[in-house]
Amino acid sequence: MFGQVSRTPYDIEFSLLGIPARIHPLFWLVSVIFGWQLGRPDLVVIWVMCVFLSILVHEMGHALMARAFGYWPHIVLHHFGGYASFTPGRGYSAWTSIAILLAGPLAGFVFFGVVLLLEIVLDRAGVNLNQQLLVAFGMLGYINLYWGLVNLLPVLPLDGGQICRDVLSLFRRVDSELWSLRISVGVGFAMALLFYRLEARYAAVLFGLLALMSLQSLGARNERW
Ligand SMILES: [Zn+2]
Repeated sequence: MFGQVSRTPYDIEFSLLGIPARIHPLFWLVSVIFGWQLGRPDLVVIWVMCVFLSILVHEMGHALMARAFGYWPHIVLHHFGGYASFTPGRGYSAWTSIAILLAGPLAGFVFFGVVLLLEIVLDRAGVNLNQQLLVAFGMLGYINLYWGLVNLLPVLPLDGGQICRDVLSLFRRVDSELWSLRISVGVGFAMALLFYRLEARYAAVLFGLLALMSLQSLGARNERW
C-alpha cells in the first residue's frame, strides 16, 4: 500500500496458483514487533503465521481477480501489509478497479467463514482443540474480519479509500482525486479519535498518520480541506 518495495537478498519468493509472490524480510520483523505484546514466544509465532496467511489470502484475492480480467499481477508482502501489483491494460475501467479492490477484503471474509466453519465442525465432532489452535482461530478471526472491515473505510490508501475514489470517478462533474482526499482526511481523523477513545492505540496512530498523508496530498495540490 506504500508503493513498490525494493528487492533484498533475504526475500522469499514462490508462486501460488500461478501468481508470483515475494516476501520482504521486514514483513516478518514488523509482524513480530506487533505481536511482541503477546508475551509468549509460541503465541508470537502463531500470530506471525496468522498474519502471513491472512495477508497472503487478501492479496491473492486482489491478484486472482486481476488475473481474471487478463492482467499479470505479482504479490509483495512487506511491513505488516502487502500489495498485488499489475499493469492495467485494455478494458481497464473504474468498475474493473473496484472489482479488483473488493476482491481482497472479500477473500479475507471467505477465509474467516472457512475458519469459523472448521472450528464449529471440529467442536461438533468432539475434537479437543488445544489452546494454541483456539488462539490461532481467534487471531484469524480478528485479522480477517476486524481488519477486513477497517480496510474498507474510505481512507486512502486503504482499499476502501481507493474504492471511494473509483466510485466518485463515475460521476463526471466530481473531481474524484480531490474529494476522495477530503473524505480521507475527515474519516481518517474521526477514526483516529474513535480508536483513541477505544484505547486501540496502534489503530489510532495509523489512522492519524493516514489522515495526515491525505492532508499533505491536498496541500501538494494547493487545495484545502
Ligand atoms: Zn487490499
